[in-house]
Amino acid sequence: MRRFELPADWDHDRPLERHVRELLTADRHRSALDEVLRHLRGDPESTTGLFMAQVTLMQSRTGRLTSPEPVTEQQASSALLAPVMTECSGCRGVWCSNHALMFHGPGAATTLTVMNPLGLQCQDCRYTLCRECRNQRPQSYTAPVDMAEIVSQPCPAPGCAGELTTPVLPTGRHDVEPTAPESIEGVVVARDGLIPPTMEEALRVVTKFVPLTADDAPLIHNRPGVPGLMSDTSTRDEMASSLVHDLEREGLLAHGAWTRSRRLFILAGTAIDTDYLITVVRKPKGTRPRGLMEALRSAKRSRRKGG
Ligand SMILES: [Zn+2]
Ligand SMILES: [Zn+2]
Ligand SMILES: [Zn+2]
Repeated sequence: MRRFELPADWDHDRPLERHVRELLTADRHRSALDEVLRHLRGDPESTTGLFMAQVTLMQSRTGRLTSPEPVTEQQASSALLAPVMTECSGCRGVWCSNHALMFHGPGAATTLTVMNPLGLQCQDCRYTLCRECRNQRPQSYTAPVDMAEIVSQPCPAPGCAGELTTPVLPTGRHDVEPTAPESIEGVVVARDGLIPPTMEEALRVVTKFVPLTADDAPLIHNRPGVPGLMSDTSTRDEMASSLVHDLEREGLLAHGAWTRSRRLFILAGTAIDTDYLITVVRKPKGTRPRGLMEALRSAKRSRRKGG
C-alpha cells in the first residue's frame, strides 16, 4: 500500500499552497479539495498536494457544520487521497488522522498524547485498529474495572513486539488501483444488470478506486452488463473481456487492450447501489511521453557505464 510520509521540509509548491489556503480561509472546502485533487491527478506523488490534502480534510472536519461548501463524500473517498488515509487492519474502515500534522512544523509536539483517539497504531509495523475494533477486543481481566483506560496495547500482528498507541499515521488503502493516472487509457464500467450506469454513478465508483477525477469522464466507458455473469471470477472475466474487445473493435481502445487490463470487482456497499465490475486498461507501451523515454534510456546508459 502506498502511504504518505510527511517530510520535515520539502520544496513547496507555493502557488498551490497559497491558492488552497485562500479557499480554506473563505471556508470553501469543496473547491479547495477539488484544487488539490486536480493537482494530484497530474502529480500523484506531489508532497505539497498530499500535505494540502491532509490540511483540507482536517479543516473540513471542524468546519463541516458551518461551511457553505463542505467536502463531499465522493471527494474524500478519492483514490488519489489514499496515501494520506489510515485503514483499520481489522474492519478496513478508513479515516484521515490529523496526527501527522500535529507533529509537523515549528513548535510541533515531539511526544503526543491524544485523548480519545479514533484509533491506535503499532509504532513498529503500523498495524492499526479503529476505535470500534479496539472496543471489541476482550478487556484485561486483571485490570481493576474503575481504572482509567490506558491507551496502549500489545500489537496483535504475528511476530511483532510493538505497541498499539498514538500517533496514528497514514497507512494507505489496500483497495485502490496502483496504476499511475497518466498511464490509464480507459476504464470500462459495468454493473449487475442490463442498464449501464450513468456517468455520475460511474464516476462515484471509479474515482473511489482508480486515481482519476471527475474531469476524466471522457476516459470512462459505461456498458450494460450481462445478468448473472457477475457472480464468479471466471464469468466476470468473460464479460470484461467481451466488453474490452467490443471497445477495441469500435476503435475506442488500442489493439491488445485485454492484455493491458486489470479487473476490479467492487461489491455493493456504502454509497454504491450494486456490484460493479471496473476494468482499467493501461496505455500501450511506446506511447509514453518522449521525455520519460529519454530519461529511461539515459539512466540505462549511465547504469551500464557505472557497472
Ligand atoms: Zn502546482
Ligand atoms: Zn476497525
Ligand atoms: Zn506491530
